Amino acid sequence: MTRPRAVIVGAGLGGCMLAHALLATHEVTLVERGESVEDPRFPLRDVGLPAVTEPHTGAGLGGSTQLWHNGLIEIDPDVFEAHWPWPKTVLDPYYEQAFPLLSGLPLSKVRAAIEDLRCRYRALGMPEARLPGLYYPRWPRNLWTSLELAGRVAVVRGDVNGFELDEGGRVTAVTLAGAAGRVAADVVVLAAGGLGTPVLLQKLARHHPLPALDHAGCHYEDHPMGFVGEVQVAVPLYRLWNYQVPGTDGNLRLPLVVVRKGMHISFQLRPAATYYRASRRERVGSVLNLLRRNPWNPLNYVKLLSHWDDVLDILSFKFGIRLPTRHYTLVMCAQTPAQPELAVWSEVDAATGQEVRIRNWVISDAFRAELRASIDDVFAAMGPVITSSRVFPNWFEQLYTGAHHSGTARLSANAQTGVCDGDGLVHGLANLYVCDGSAIPASGIANTGLTIAALALRLADHLGARAARST
Ligand SMILES: Cc1cc2nc3c(=O)[nH]c(=O)nc-3n(C[C@H](O)[C@H](O)[C@H](O)COP(=O)(O)OP(=O)(O)OC[C@H]3O[C@@H](n4cnc5c(N)ncnc54)[C@H](O)[C@@H]3O)c2cc1C
Repeated sequence: MTRPRAVIVGAGLGGCMLAHALLATHEVTLVERGESVEDPRFPLRDVGLPAVTEPHTGAGLGGSTQLWHNGLIEIDPDVFEAHWPWPKTVLDPYYEQAFPLLSGLPLSKVRAAIEDLRCRYRALGMPEARLPGLYYPRWPRNLWTSLELAGRVAVVRGDVNGFELDEGGRVTAVTLAGAAGRVAADVVVLAAGGLGTPVLLQKLARHHPLPALDHAGCHYEDHPMGFVGEVQVAVPLYRLWNYQVPGTDGNLRLPLVVVRKGMHISFQLRPAATYYRASRRERVGSVLNLLRRNPWNPLNYVKLLSHWDDVLDILSFKFGIRLPTRHYTLVMCAQTPAQPELAVWSEVDAATGQEVRIRNWVISDAFRAELRASIDDVFAAMGPVITSSRVFPNWFEQLYTGAHHSGTARLSANAQTGVCDGDGLVHGLANLYVCDGSAIPASGIANTGLTIAALALRLADHLGARAARST
């Protein structure tokens, strides 16, 4: 019996995970346009807040997982209640399946370690606040290679730029830019990322307008992250801030979460070489990203010598050496209200003739004030264990993108509030699905990778059942 042909647009996190799971029931073709992680043919321009982390989206086999740090965290159940079309319990079985595929470990083991570490934090007098667990496997995984997809799925190199539909609202093929042609499909899944999928949906809307497609590129979310202040503590936190989970080579961190106006804002404590910073005029920040991307460039090691906090981080993370210190910087990672207006679209650059994706990421003055107040909240919550605290005067300018592009084709109860239904099917179409960061309606303070993987596994089950029904 012939199996249905699934065409997945984009070989990033969502695309690779879905391809892996869908092989059981479908013929799978991945269409990927990038030749390298920073492919200059597909530029991206930030017109809102400056991005600071560059690049903040990847291309090629593995997509942005060629850049990511592989930090794994579940979204808080309250965030599901407030913003998702279904509760977290729906995704829980898929979180459990996704976690080992991204880390090699069962989620139950890390959940137990999170409980244990919470007790240790509280024994030190840390507040009874929310303390979610963020687990970092020692070596980040590029999903294309870690899932060993080469030779198992068909790959078409091409830039998808349109769709062919029949009269019943079924997508029959995707079309490729240039002379590359078309790829026929029984089911099409967009996994082009939070900044790629909305652009494709906007192109579809030009020929096939639908109420749901008006939301493509709206409701954008990302996490502003950055070094916002410092504290001196009276307790030996240095043993716990980057906790090696027994029996694994990965590390667990427990950010401290405060909630303001329904928004979650987290703070991680990172050992600080304060004496050095004072002499460098408030210089904070990190060169770890640069170092990860270009480990062979000697200049990055020279830069490292002017970022002693990074040296403490490397000693702890890679070598398990935890130097006693009472000084910590606070790394903020904040949920922001979804931007209702259009935030992601594409334009043709008149000078080069190239299509450019545009991201307009904005933080309102009112929300900036909430972020500032949340720093005082966290100081107050930590009151019993801190002996001094200070907000960096330039804290807002230090914020950088978390690169967790989401919301731009969000799951929603109906076409009036978002692009896709609860399964990821575009409202109003028969066989066009979304499976990447853009489907996430809200993430709280959680990095989105684990959730994208869980959504992909859930979609694979859905498509498998759908295929079984139609045979
Ligand atoms: C420096 C950095 C660190 C990060 N650290 C973490 C972390 O610790 N934890 C975490 O959870 N997340 C992290 N992330 C974010 C994480 O990498 C992304 O959320 C995730 O990879 C997004 O997956 P995706 O499937 O939505 O898109 P992507 O992985 O970006 O994949 C999209 C793919 O689609 C392709 N594509 C786009 N348009 C087209 C088209 N028209 N035709 C064909 N192909 C197309 C792209 O080339 C790309 O390969 C980090 C990101 C960065 C940049």
